[in-house]
Amino acid sequence: MILHKKNWANSVQSNHIELYLSHDINQFIGPILFIGGVHGDEPEGVSLAKNLLIYLNKNKFNKHWALIPCLNPDGFAANSRTNANNVDLNRNFPSKDWSKNYKAPRYYPGPHPASEPEILALTQLIKDIKPKLIIHFHSWRPSIILTGPPDNPEAKAFSQCSNYPLKLDIGYPTPGSLGQFAWFDLNIPVICIEEEEKICSTTSWNNFKAAFDIVLKIK
Ligand SMILES: [Zn+2]
Repeated sequence: MILHKKNWANSVQSNHIELYLSHDINQFIGPILFIGGVHGDEPEGVSLAKNLLIYLNKNKFNKHWALIPCLNPDGFAANSRTNANNVDLNRNFPSKDWSKNYKAPRYYPGPHPASEPEILALTQLIKDIKPKLIIHFHSWRPSIILTGPPDNPEAKAFSQCSNYPLKLDIGYPTPGSLGQFAWFDLNIPVICIEEEEKICSTTSWNNFKAAFDIVLKIK
């Protein structure tokens, strides 16, 4: 039975951030952590996470997993990239390379690392469940961006199933991002799925369903 923590954490505006788990946290063995809605103006990633949740509810898998459908509910409600403090959550992780400098308001990293409640909750969860792999869902130019060892089989599966190019770098520095924090500080590989903007959610699900089967090892 899937565990549902309806108010696992709260956003700046006290909206609940939901968390779903395949097992009790103290029984977890090398789970995969899935995260949607880091950026509130990328609803394609939230749709993909919700379709994945429906699929996880219907099927049994070998791998343990945890899923946050929408990390940034305030931004999602406002169709804004940042959270309610105007912070880009994907620049607010307490990585060694966190920087207070930023090029445009959309990348504002916050006043200090992990200043935001959404990121404090997520970094604590990562420490508690020790995921073997983190996959987060965004939308931009269709691509699979891997921060981790280049031969990562899961990243290859997502690229092959979707026909989206596999990249080892988004093309510009991302200090304080989830990839920098999890891989360079904690040695956890991170896959960022960049879905096509405005894609229909069924098409999006079909792009990745086969890869989820491979990654989760359907029973
Ligand atoms: Zn994004």
